Amino acid sequence: MPTFAIYPGSFDPLTNGHLDVLRRASRLFDKVILAIAHETEKRPLFTVQERVELAREAVCGLENVRVEEFKQLLVDYVQEKGACVIVRGLRAVSDFEVEFQMALMNRNLAPTVETIFLMPRDSYSYLSSRMTKQIAQLGGDISPFVMPHIEKALRRKYGFST
Ligand code: ADP
Repeated sequence: MPTFAIYPGSFDPLTNGHLDVLRRASRLFDKVILAIAHETEKRPLFTVQERVELAREAVCGLENVRVEEFKQLLVDYVQEKGACVIVRGLRAVSDFEVEFQMALMNRNLAPTVETIFLMPRDSYSYLSSRMTKQIAQLGGDISPFVMPHIEKALRRKYGFST
């Protein structure tokens, strides 16, 4: 049976750290869906359609990766798709507590769905969408952290000429 994993998140926007985790997942599984959450407590900067478009352009070289949006409870979405693995990225100890809670809660809700954690390249371990947005808002250089089309979209959002 082909292996199939889902990498969920808000991806507001997708950073090179997310891409690093996604590439690793795409080598481990036959098929991976990058699943972008509609509902997020974080009041996203980009609409879900924008986040999907930006991510689609970023993953077009990865043949076994698709980008989708989802609205429902994550474990329901994973089971509807017929996947059995959730991929999450772990940067530092600071991610651990919340990821651990989420993984165990999801296991409680859906015992057959496993969560696995992948570590990005060490140079991305300090990178977050939140910090990238803060730097972009103040006109700083974000080119090491996101792909060029995402850098452009961020600059446009914050009113800088692209
Ligand atoms: P959330 O799902 O909490 O809104 P994000 O959309 O920012 O988080 O990220 C989705 C997943 O990617 C999470 O597992 C998060 O820990 C992970 N992640 C975020 N940034 C990085 C990074 N720089 N390197 C590796 N993993 C990351």
